[in-house]
Amino acid sequence: MSVNPFETVREQVELSVEPSDEVKTTTCYMCACRCGVKVHLKNGQVRYLEGNPDHPVNKGVLCAKGSAGIMNQNSPARLKKPLLRTGERGAGEFKEIEWDEALALATEWLGEVRKTDPSRLAFFTGRDQSQSFTGWWAKQYGTRNFAAHGGFCSVNMAAGGLYTLGGAFWEFGEPDWDLTRYFMMFGVAEDHDSNPIKAGIGKIKSRGNAKFVSVNPSRTGYSAVADEWVGIRPGTDGLFVFALIHELLRSEKIDFASLARYSNAPWLVIQDPGAPDDGLFARDKEGNPLVFDLEKGALVSAMQPDFKPAFAGVRELPDGRKAVPSFELLARRYLSDAFSPDTVAATCGLHADDIRRLAAELAEAAFENEIVIDQAWTDAWGRKHDKMIGRPVAFHAMRGISAHSNGFHTCRAIHILQALLGSVDTPGGWRNKAPFPKPIPAGPKPAGKTCEPETPLDGMPLGTPFGPEDLIVDDDGEPLRIDKAYSWEHPLSAHGLMHMVLQNAWAGDPQPVDVLFMYMANMAWNSSMNTAGTIKYLTDKDETGAYKIPKIIYSDAFYSETVAYADLILPDTTYLERYDCISLLDRPISSAHGPADAIRHPVIKPDRDVRPFQDVLLDIGARLALPGFVKDDGAPAYPGGYPDYMVNHERGPGLGPLAGWRGEKGDKQGRGEPNANQLDRYIENGAFWHYELPPEQQYYKHANQAYLDYAHSMGWMPSASPIVFHLYSEVIQKFRLAAMGHGPKQPPDRHRERVKTYFDPLPIWYQPFEDDTASDTDYPLHALTQRPMHMYHSWGSQNAWLRQITAANRLHMHRGTAQAQGIEDGDWVWVSSRIGRVKGQVKLVDGVNPNTVWTWNAIGKRRGAWALDKDAPESNRGFLLNHLIDELLPKGEAGGRYSNSDPVTGQAAWFDLRVRVEKCAPEEFGATEPLYDAQNPMPDAPAHQDVLRYGADLKGEPKGTPAPSEDWIAHRAEVSKTVPGVKHGRYGRADKSGEGQS
Ligand code: SF4
Repeated sequence: MSVNPFETVREQVELSVEPSDEVKTTTCYMCACRCGVKVHLKNGQVRYLEGNPDHPVNKGVLCAKGSAGIMNQNSPARLKKPLLRTGERGAGEFKEIEWDEALALATEWLGEVRKTDPSRLAFFTGRDQSQSFTGWWAKQYGTRNFAAHGGFCSVNMAAGGLYTLGGAFWEFGEPDWDLTRYFMMFGVAEDHDSNPIKAGIGKIKSRGNAKFVSVNPSRTGYSAVADEWVGIRPGTDGLFVFALIHELLRSEKIDFASLARYSNAPWLVIQDPGAPDDGLFARDKEGNPLVFDLEKGALVSAMQPDFKPAFAGVRELPDGRKAVPSFELLARRYLSDAFSPDTVAATCGLHADDIRRLAAELAEAAFENEIVIDQAWTDAWGRKHDKMIGRPVAFHAMRGISAHSNGFHTCRAIHILQALLGSVDTPGGWRNKAPFPKPIPAGPKPAGKTCEPETPLDGMPLGTPFGPEDLIVDDDGEPLRIDKAYSWEHPLSAHGLMHMVLQNAWAGDPQPVDVLFMYMANMAWNSSMNTAGTIKYLTDKDETGAYKIPKIIYSDAFYSETVAYADLILPDTTYLERYDCISLLDRPISSAHGPADAIRHPVIKPDRDVRPFQDVLLDIGARLALPGFVKDDGAPAYPGGYPDYMVNHERGPGLGPLAGWRGEKGDKQGRGEPNANQLDRYIENGAFWHYELPPEQQYYKHANQAYLDYAHSMGWMPSASPIVFHLYSEVIQKFRLAAMGHGPKQPPDRHRERVKTYFDPLPIWYQPFEDDTASDTDYPLHALTQRPMHMYHSWGSQNAWLRQITAANRLHMHRGTAQAQGIEDGDWVWVSSRIGRVKGQVKLVDGVNPNTVWTWNAIGKRRGAWALDKDAPESNRGFLLNHLIDELLPKGEAGGRYSNSDPVTGQAAWFDLRVRVEKCAPEEFGATEPLYDAQNPMPDAPAHQDVLRYGADLKGEPKGTPAPSEDWIAHRAEVSKTVPGVKHGRYGRADKSGEGQS
């Protein structure tokens, strides 16, 4: 008898699998993008995750990481119970304790510090996305020593944008994906703004009338689908942008009308060398900046509605001194030969003709492809416009620009290029996302000049300085914060310098700490520079045998490398087991079309003795009786935990963490009394709130009166005044003047030259600092890390599905560069920097700048961490480039050592790294180095399984659980509702009876 194999196979396949008995919507947290997800549950377990098609961030798109959230939920690395260290730090020897004991101990340690000197608590959090809450906790506790991870991630982007346009890339702004005709992306971290960018690039590619140019040393990820890849040398992007500006200025392809209306380009700058106001704007008696009106032939206030300003020419001020428009200073600088394509091309690793062509393409897209929308609007000066006119060029940049010691100025340069083209928040340009733009500087100012026992700070610890008077320094101008943020070493460090905390705490510079409290930041491994040094800081002891950092409290959901170095572990839940607040007060998920915020809520119950960190922080705050955390009678102010706080906390009258469904009846947005049913309304709506701006508010948000009124009414701006782009930064000039000896707050002498050099009111370019310390012969190559699209920092390596994609990283090297050294694909090599060397395996590629090597970030793991087998590829073949990056620069002429950071913002300069690559001897092939001792498994660790079989028990029909509340077919309830004639069965799919099947 013959057997039809296909029939047999068909019979074995269940074509219409019942995936779930319940579907709940929440917000993904497998990366920072915060997409909406539908969680399919079966028998109380997560069965399947899909994108929420209604969600404003991802519109149904789900990436590999998001889909694999199911395996984070089932990870063997999940912490199970509070832990107290029993062995030496780093060994991973703990005993499990009860929550009562853990919280009492934390309260005792923190309470002792608060009674004497609250600044001896350093409280630093990682990628938790609840910084408005954790910052408030720090404020109420009374320590200035608080920050989250922005200082080692992207503060250059945030500060560069906020001090220039009042907005920034990623969470603060986005390209007009639907209308842009030219999109230029600078070296980007693939997992920031991940799904929106993928969808946006998809729109551009499929529309067929737009060009996508990627400027990136490596042709991976988004660059791989770009229409043109510009394989620039790392750290030279600023020079490249200046050359583009040079060409636009030379060919007079500048939108002067836009600059006159929206920027400080025509404002007159005092030219009086040596005077205390040299380089500041000339102002009238009311303090308004002055411009020279060509029609009136006189100086007039720049704040009046109509004038025809001069963009060049020396003018005489009423006091007889001279002044020139800031645009003239800008043009003089960038028209110089130093920034011509011919001059910069070799340094950038590009061809001058290509730079000229790219500048011409930008100009053509902006000025020959004007977009006109028939939409009336009124500007902030009362002028009515019957059209919205756009220049369809958009830029995007993230960590590739940010993580250099010259990143702040490069970021400003990109924003200035955007403004010169007249494409800021115009149709087809780059658009702000509410609540941005903000006034420049945005404020509030940083608090913490004084820290008193048992006293809250007088403001939030993080903010934006307006001038030298806002620095957090002592009377001698020396740093007060443990990370030296807001000091003369890096004055505009708006996100702090988390990467310096361990080094400084160990050194007691500027002061020792008693307790280090950290959350969700793998500082013992991939989140720190100089891994060996970091481990020393965590384990080093003084002459009495006590640890130099006396007490470390750490909260995380997983058994990371950092857990092993902490004294007390407060285990967190996964993102599917807790409430979270994605707030407009914090890091919003708005789009250019309108504001949005979101929540997470528990869609599954923890099966371990863990608690959400935010609940724990509220609990500790109440035990410490921090103001705001307890009522007058001493009872907890938020007895219902974090969801109680999310609903009832008010930062100002009617202003709370969530903007949607406020007011007693839930009918108010933005401002309104707390609504007891607010979270229910979010959950009913798919766990998010979104408001679509009316058409007249969609563009020109910096100067659109209807939008400004709305933003003010929502509490995002102190007034409805227009926001003027700061091409020339007076704030930065104030710091330079201080360094030149003016004003009551001046830097210590050893910092004067540095501040004078790097606080230039117009963007500058300088070699990344590591280039100065590394000779081209000793360390000829740049070394970068990239995050794979399928991994988010270190979180992916405990995820069984994601590990199958990448379990060991390779060093990607240009084929020609490797061949010149006799290195072949798969060879093992030593990668050496000025502080050490690591061993890894090479992958030869063509799509990389020949002077650059790169590898995937955070794949290499310490043995025993993340519940990985000690023989796991991550620990034995994967390697960590962090070993090679020093957190300090070599001693300078003044004898001190600055942090390896941007001198303006303190942004960690990860991508300045210079290395040498040498082939290993044959006997050295096979395993990475350095190899650390394995950390012990956590107590009660699950037995290692070679093969995970998750979900086998979920096959078949649901076990007596109630019918689902919503219908679905082909993974989409929405589809099912639109298919005529389809009748839905008990679990929402097409009825098996046949009736109604189509
Ligand atoms: S992009 Fe990030 S938030 Fe969105 S689905 Fe992927 S992992 Fe989740």
